[in-house]
Amino acid sequence: MKSIREIKNLKGKKVLVRVDFNVPVGDDGVVDGKEDWRIKAVLPTIQYLLKKEAKIILMAHLGRPEGKVVEEMKLGPVQDRLSELLELSVTRAPDCVGDMVKEIVDEMQAGEIVLLENLRFYKEEEKDDEEFARKLASSADIYVNDAFSVSHRAHASVSAITKFLPSYAGFLLEKEVKILSEAINNPQKPATIIIGGAKAETKLPIIKFVMDKYNHILVGGVVANVILKAKGIDTGQSLIGDIDPEEAKKIDLDNKKLYIPFDVIVCNSKIKRVELTPVGKIGDERILDIGPDTEELFSKIIVDSKMIIWNGPMGKFENEKFASGTRKIAEAMVKSKGYKIIGGGDTIAALSQFGYLDKVDYVCTGGGAMLEFLAGEKMPGIEALK
Ligand code: ADP
Ligand code: MG
Repeated sequence: MKSIREIKNLKGKKVLVRVDFNVPVGDDGVVDGKEDWRIKAVLPTIQYLLKKEAKIILMAHLGRPEGKVVEEMKLGPVQDRLSELLELSVTRAPDCVGDMVKEIVDEMQAGEIVLLENLRFYKEEEKDDEEFARKLASSADIYVNDAFSVSHRAHASVSAITKFLPSYAGFLLEKEVKILSEAINNPQKPATIIIGGAKAETKLPIIKFVMDKYNHILVGGVVANVILKAKGIDTGQSLIGDIDPEEAKKIDLDNKKLYIPFDVIVCNSKIKRVELTPVGKIGDERILDIGPDTEELFSKIIVDSKMIIWNGPMGKFENEKFASGTRKIAEAMVKSKGYKIIGGGDTIAALSQFGYLDKVDYVCTGGGAMLEFLAGEKMPGIEALK
């Protein structure tokens, strides 16, 4: 990957930067100061370009407008928050392509910032449309990708665009790729990965990929339900999601490195033990958290680990009755002296809720992108920069 650091002369150059500003916007049209971490994460790249006196053109998306202009998904609130954080005025273009954008960009001075309107107002963006990418590129001299979290998708603003401009990685993209690559390929041992949450189809491939790289794989949440079921253990009415549990058999389910819950909390908050044979133990109930003995074993492994990656809550933590497993894992992480990486929207929300977000070493900004990276998938946005 070519780095933004390698660009020799940035002075007066029009630099088109893909960022991820997909942040929650309140009903009052304001981006909450607690939820602007995605904006804060790209400030180093923006500040570097400001210092080098480039003309900075930012492109981003917000929400899922699905190829139509949606008033509530315009980038005004993002523009305001970015401007506050930088203590600088930020101009917002009324569109992301077209004559108006050209005019605005032509009048830019060195050290100015223009934010283009929501890319996903055009369906061409998500189709990796070359003609659309060419139009985006036409206003700039250089392209920088600083949006790791969308780089697993072949979209025009991360993939096709690299055919039209000299293309580089921004500081955030570079940092996320470096940290995750080292964590996966060269972890300090013992290394532990904790996988939980809901979308088992996106998480089972990670378990498969890390099996021979990591010492311990701890599984909770719906992902664990799927594995329990695949092993023929009764999971009652537990949530499995849209996956055929047979899919889990692609993993070596008997591998000693793989730890699945052996006691669980079910919907009436009772503790039940899950064992290989007794069918009907969970019966009409649902598994909603890991149990205390599983918590204890998982915690001990985590505390003794030198590298810990965590994605996905252990249970339905939004309800306090089922938050214990997730909280105990978080506490064990805080206690551990190992290097700690977390990712996933709900995992980040849980840690933030417990007040531990600043106790981990790295919070990955890319949810789906992190999952694909950890599963060893090639990412179109990153491949395009090689
Ligand atoms: P992340 O965003 O961290 O990647 P996911 O989106 O995959 O995590 O999953 C988080 C969701 O999974 C949470 O809303 C949580 O309530 C739910 N969840 C976890 N365990 C269970 C369970 N046993 N039953 C039902 N829902 C669960
Ligand atoms: Mg989620």
